[in-house]
Amino acid sequence: PKTLRLILGDQLNSTHSWFESPNENVIYLMAEMRQETDYVKHHIQKVMAFFTAMRCFADHLKNEGRHVRYFKLDDPENPQKLDQIITNLIQKEGIEKFEYQLPDEYRLDQQLKDICKLISIDSEPFDTEHFLTERSFLAQYFEGKKTYLMESFYRDIRKKFEILMDGKEPEGGKWNYDHDNRSALTDKRLLRKHLEFKHDLSNIYQMIQDQKIETFGNVDPKNFPWPISRTESLDLLDHFCENLLIHFGDYQDALTTWDPFLFHSRLSFALNTKMISPMEVVRKVQSHWHEMRDEISISQVEGFIRQIIGWREYMRGIYWAKMPEFSKMNFFGHDRKLPSWFWTGKTKMKCISQSINQSLDLAYAHHIQRLMVIGNFALLAGIDPDEVDAWYLGIYIDAIEWVEITNTRGMSQFADGGIVGTKPYVSSANYIKKQGNYCTHCAYSSNQKTGDKACPFNSLYWHFYDRNREFLEKNPRIGMAYKTLDRMKNKAQILKQADEYLERIEEL
Ligand code: FAD
Repeated sequence: PKTLRLILGDQLNSTHSWFESPNENVIYLMAEMRQETDYVKHHIQKVMAFFTAMRCFADHLKNEGRHVRYFKLDDPENPQKLDQIITNLIQKEGIEKFEYQLPDEYRLDQQLKDICKLISIDSEPFDTEHFLTERSFLAQYFEGKKTYLMESFYRDIRKKFEILMDGKEPEGGKWNYDHDNRSALTDKRLLRKHLEFKHDLSNIYQMIQDQKIETFGNVDPKNFPWPISRTESLDLLDHFCENLLIHFGDYQDALTTWDPFLFHSRLSFALNTKMISPMEVVRKVQSHWHEMRDEISISQVEGFIRQIIGWREYMRGIYWAKMPEFSKMNFFGHDRKLPSWFWTGKTKMKCISQSINQSLDLAYAHHIQRLMVIGNFALLAGIDPDEVDAWYLGIYIDAIEWVEITNTRGMSQFADGGIVGTKPYVSSANYIKKQGNYCTHCAYSSNQKTGDKACPFNSLYWHFYDRNREFLEKNPRIGMAYKTLDRMKNKAQILKQADEYLERIEEL
């Protein structure tokens, strides 16, 4: 039958079995749509990266001789909505069957289910052939349990796919090297040059402006740094293996003004658009390590692989196990508005201005900036998780709801009440100071809890525990904090300081 196959913007998987053989009767549909640019306000680089990578993928399919119907955003025939695009095309081309790959977002999953009901022809969903596990795997795996421990899931995945295994035992004798992976970076000479792609994307930039799409953040359209094809994604992976893996674990949690990327791979966009697969990333890293065993320690490799087959895969499982309820969860009932400086970076807190300005410039922040600087502040200050989510979903190049919301609402804001993590990720200034140089030359003092110069993280930290006592005191991993708080002589003063800071949060 004459078939229409839909490829969404994050389904750029050229190794999918759909493309194994030529198929004359198939039309591949790809579309840039207002429904995707407008569901949240995105960073300009994110919109540019998605559209460019999609165009590149469409060109690749056309070069293979496939029929592709690609709607650019400014195409006068583009109805800008998925349901209309599909129904129009079915009619116009006399399509007899509709096929699609399972979307990773709940929103699109619902929309596609509705579309399939709407059209009168046969339809069939396909796996994306990207993840190691199926959507429903995690829900089944933890069935009947209250908590979903990442660690047990991760170990089973390693065994099942024989990743970093020595027979039945973990390679190196340990499952987890996290304790080796916590250093601050003190030697600038260790830093490496990053691979940036420098694409001239002036045309797509102009189109986005002409179409009046509301975006934010900065970009140099003539020097666009992100990978936009599979080849470039593989180059970035090679670059990571050859230059960065050697210190990935060591400085995974480091915070420094010297380098926004440190030893992080910057592979998240390539992975989330499926230009490369988690399995090939893991296999490549593993084989590189086998060749370089004398130089690269297992803690670097395990730390990296854990992120990909542990955290990433696990977050996806949580998403499908807990949506749509997850998107409404607000365990602490936080309702403060996001300070306006989240959109400008204009705050005197150096750690935050550094992390936010970097995010505005690069559409990127590494994990500890997202979790222990920006997210930490939002949680301590009691910001409404809806606002926090919208910000994270917009700003990062890799932000797609399945992995954004589970990290933000779950891991970072504890709005899920402890599905993803067993306790909230909060800290005072001490942690941030320990991880690098963010506290140097800050207008606030990391040592002070009270007074004009006191770092807001310090009093807000205790304010957070104090106001959420009923939710947290019984948690065995937290009880100690309350003993410390209740013994503090200047407790009232610290809490008063936090109240004052919260009152003038816009001026911090
Ligand atoms: P590396 O440090 O090089 O790690 C390698 C890969 O591991 C990443 O590319 C990513 O695919 C995976 N990974 C690492 N940590 C996680 C994690 N916690 N969850 C899922 N995958 C992980 N990641 C996204 O891809 N999209 C998001 O929208 C997103 N939002 C986040 C929001 C918050 C509040 C936090 C705390 C984390 C978020 N993350 C998100 C996870 C993580 O911060 C990014 O994946 C990572 O910073 C991307 O940079 P990288 O490719 O250089 O990562």
